[in-house]
Amino acid sequence: MELTPKQWRALEAICDTFAPGANGTPGATGMGVPRVLWNAVGRNPREAERRQVAQLLSLWDTRLVTALGGGGLTRFSDLSPARREEVLRAWCDSRIPQRRAAFQALRKGALLFYYMVPGENGRSPVWDRIGYPGPLGPNPEAPRKALEPLAVDRDTTLECDVCVVGSGAGGGAAAGVLAAAGLDVVVVEAGGYYDDEDFDGGEFEGYGRMYMYGGGAATHDQSVALLAGSCLGGGTTINYTTSFRTPDDVREEWASHGVPAFAGDEYARSLDAVCERLGVNQEHNAPSAREQMLQRGLTGLGWHADFMPRNVRGCEQGKVCGYCNYGCRLGAKQSTVKTWLADAYAAGTRILVGTHAERVIVERGAAAGVEARTTAGHRVSLRARAVVSGCGAIHTPALLRRSGLENINIGKHLRLHPATVVWGVYDEEVRPWEGTMQAIYSDQHRYLDGGYGVKYETAAIHPSLLVVFSPWRSAAEHARMMEALPHSVPIGILLRDRDGGEVKVDRAGQPVVKYRLSDYDVHHVRRGVEGAAEIHEAAGAQRVFSSHSRDVSYTPGNGGRARFMQEADACGWDTGRCTYGSFHIMGSARMGGSPETSACNPRGETWEVRGLYVCDGSAFPSASGVNPMISIESIAHMNAAGIADSLR
Ligand SMILES: Cc1cc2nc3c(=O)[nH]c(=O)nc-3n(C[C@H](O)[C@H](O)[C@H](O)COP(=O)(O)OP(=O)(O)OC[C@H]3O[C@@H](n4cnc5c(N)ncnc54)[C@H](O)[C@@H]3O)c2cc1C
Ligand code: SF4
Repeated sequence: MELTPKQWRALEAICDTFAPGANGTPGATGMGVPRVLWNAVGRNPREAERRQVAQLLSLWDTRLVTALGGGGLTRFSDLSPARREEVLRAWCDSRIPQRRAAFQALRKGALLFYYMVPGENGRSPVWDRIGYPGPLGPNPEAPRKALEPLAVDRDTTLECDVCVVGSGAGGGAAAGVLAAAGLDVVVVEAGGYYDDEDFDGGEFEGYGRMYMYGGGAATHDQSVALLAGSCLGGGTTINYTTSFRTPDDVREEWASHGVPAFAGDEYARSLDAVCERLGVNQEHNAPSAREQMLQRGLTGLGWHADFMPRNVRGCEQGKVCGYCNYGCRLGAKQSTVKTWLADAYAAGTRILVGTHAERVIVERGAAAGVEARTTAGHRVSLRARAVVSGCGAIHTPALLRRSGLENINIGKHLRLHPATVVWGVYDEEVRPWEGTMQAIYSDQHRYLDGGYGVKYETAAIHPSLLVVFSPWRSAAEHARMMEALPHSVPIGILLRDRDGGEVKVDRAGQPVVKYRLSDYDVHHVRRGVEGAAEIHEAAGAQRVFSSHSRDVSYTPGNGGRARFMQEADACGWDTGRCTYGSFHIMGSARMGGSPETSACNPRGETWEVRGLYVCDGSAFPSASGVNPMISIESIAHMNAAGIADSLR
């Protein structure tokens, strides 16, 4: 779909109001943002959403829409910059959730690309303005790729014992276990294969190549940004390497859902095997300047602090390491590409990339294979004795529904560990994009109510995450905040959500994520926001601000924190009022003891179709409360061992 001149005019005016440029740097249109943004909209697989954006742009530059935004009876593009900002703020603060959602989508789209696009010569002038060095470039010493995916250049039929769909934490681990058991395995992965030699630390390229929908996925009302890997290795290729075992209390809770194995030796053995294969250790934890602030604050308060367990071998933990979420250029991250998929490949597993599984073939109530299509449009028919879905907790429910499964629990019980951020601005330059991704964490408020509460973690910050988790009230204020990036430290508040959302599947078979924080969960987020502010204060931050849609900030001292919390409450914690992101997507096809309460049985097999198993984050009975990769791989390990036994 191409935009009309009127729609272009509207899009350019919106982008240039968010980012008009400053101090000699070009504005959004000068940086080519409207075109890139429209291309990104085109990556959204839901036609209804693409059409919605086009409709909004058709209406945007009419007198009616400007009047609704308080701009009088002049077209948006004819207003002065100050009046345009007023209109955008009116949308941001609107009582109508759909308007707030539209504002958030436009804000993120325009500003993210403004700060991410490399520009004509590969070095954006915007980066110079905010003191950000930009991408690292490829590592000239990186080894060549070790795996060779199967080339498919025509319609193809393949036979195997097990077809594994998705190659992330769950799919990758399942493939490794099944291949080691001597089974003939085919892995079908929708994303591409990128490895050490391809990783250059670029945000624009990194999101575009390796993240779901180019990093632009969100819940249907834009209230939670959804981040997930979509490449060979899935999330394990781009994640932060934090490697917690499933906590004992969570294992007990999962067992109470009718899967006793979670509390017993079988799951414990899988946890051990996964940690062994991934080389999980607590010896690669040199805190960056950013994490020294977290450490300083926690120590000052006398709060819990510990070193992160991480799945790395020979991790450098140096300056370049903050770019880890665009792939490790040094081959130290023990993703599934470096571990389970490498093992499976060595044992003869065939791997297809750029190949999207459309549906599972079901014959006489049993899985008989998978119908897939390559990005070039070639059909791939896979005949198999069993099928594993490892598409992740957004796409597994969609695959199951497209394959005709009807269990009411498919898509339900979605958990997101919604995370928000409290920022501290320090006198010292911390260059938050540098150093070990995550070295330290705190469980001080992990158990606020039984097993529910928040974890404190920080992560390397490039312009994109500051853009996502910060308010926009005017172009000048936003530019000042971005210029403070080298001095900014994020403290992430990672909620173990008790109450969840749902993945619905539209008529075209595409997932639509609905999620709303319950009052119970908001109560914990609120405590976490206050706790993070306390940490920043104890660490000596000069200024603290939250991720609300308004400017909710304070200078420590003189009752500032109490006022900060009052302002946060006044702004609200709901859709479009406070920004959340999810890096942990779980529970949408959960295992359990009965088809009334779960989508899969205690072996991970769907209740409806024999031989169709779920081995990914969807299988969690509830939120893991810790970063989930090790739990996902361990469930996949346990379920895959059962599949291998049943096929022998
Ligand atoms: C930026 C980031 C940082 C993170 N950091 C950590 C961390 O430090 N520690 C931690 O424990 N967790 C972390 N996580 C979370 C963790 O990586 C994920 O929870 C985990 O990878 C999910 O595993 P999965 O098997 O459910 O799905 P994924 O790993 O998401 O894999 C699913 C794969 O299936 C593919 N797929 C989907 N649909 C289809 C289809 N129809 N056909 C074919 N292929 C398909 C996708 O392309 C994708 O590659 C992080 C996540 C992100 C995004
Ligand atoms: S921290 Fe650095 S060396 Fe370690 S896995 Fe990440 S990018 Fe690689």
